[in-house]
Amino acid sequence: MRAETLAIHAGNLYEPHTKDVTAPINLSTTFLRDADGGYSGGHMYSRMSNPNRAALEKTMAELEKGADACAFSSGNTAGMSVFQALKPGSHILAPDDMYWGFKRQLQSIFADTIEIDFIDLTNPDLIGGHIRKNTVMIWVETPSNPLLKITDIAAIAQIARSKGLILACDSTFASPCLQNPIALGANIVMHSSTKYIGGHSDVLGGVLVTAEKDELWEKIRNIQQVGGAVPSPFDCFLLSRSIKTLAYRMRGHCENGMALALYLEKHPVVEAVFYPGLPTHPGHETARQQMTGFGGMLSILIKGGADEARRVVNKMKLFAQATSLGGVESLIEHRASIEGPDTKTPQNLIRISAGLEHIDDLIADFEQALS
Ligand SMILES: *Cc1c(COP(=O)(O)O)cnc(C)c1O
Repeated sequence: MRAETLAIHAGNLYEPHTKDVTAPINLSTTFLRDADGGYSGGHMYSRMSNPNRAALEKTMAELEKGADACAFSSGNTAGMSVFQALKPGSHILAPDDMYWGFKRQLQSIFADTIEIDFIDLTNPDLIGGHIRKNTVMIWVETPSNPLLKITDIAAIAQIARSKGLILACDSTFASPCLQNPIALGANIVMHSSTKYIGGHSDVLGGVLVTAEKDELWEKIRNIQQVGGAVPSPFDCFLLSRSIKTLAYRMRGHCENGMALALYLEKHPVVEAVFYPGLPTHPGHETARQQMTGFGGMLSILIKGGADEARRVVNKMKLFAQATSLGGVESLIEHRASIEGPDTKTPQNLIRISAGLEHIDDLIADFEQALS
């Protein structure tokens, strides 16, 4: 079945007694045990598993064409669970513009246990020179945050396979509807479901999907169940509800993202537009091959510096000045000041999350702010 259909039906585990058409919210933390000690209902204790999380995980595994999925209480814990599953002393390769929250985790929480090289993974030829005896994983993020760089997942998967390395992909900006890294050879896909999957800026969550239920996945499942950074049944219900419209929301985000990129590219106050849908973007060809749409995220450089960029952001009326992305409402932010003093993000960069408002209203807002 296609994504639109899976999104609506994959997780609908019909309740056998009350016969609900949509899944109810099961708040119970504990489940009845049979006379023989078994759990014929399939659940024992809700940190280990519960009906709402099981439904969300099943939907995500099917949408990402994987063998299994683990849902977490945030995107950060989803990623952290992968790093925790690696043997201490492991070396990994990650993108030089890796999502700053993960960079911070690796440099603080894992500073003594994981060795890391941040390199430009948009050039797969650089990988060979950085592989060490203890290298175990390549982590990619595409499109990347906030520069919208595109990494060739299939090309890196081939290198990873030939060197016996795990390939993990942060696919948050694409959502499962625009890109399926497992189908391109990745072992693990990571999403912050806080973003497009939730889509309404009202639930925090993260998901991992695996290509195979292998030894690494056993470790990750154990970290989820025993570590306990799990989403509540209500969070899982909200995410499952949101996923039903994901494919249609993504079409709107892509349409508005593209239209904004084309408008901003021509504006005299704008120095550069980073959007993989533009033919001038260096990753455009790769994006066309591995994505079915270019998404709703774009960044622009304003002529001038931080002050000019902040002035534009402050003048926006419809776009809310806030961090995060992927919701129905359009957001805008001066990125460098969110990331802190050691950021490499250009000071004149503005990150935009195109929402689902009418495009004419979004362009009119930029027209007045850039004037
Ligand atoms: C937001 C985000 C994360 C972290 O997810 P949280 O849900 O905020 O913990 C990771 N990667 C990318 C690309 C993100 O945008």
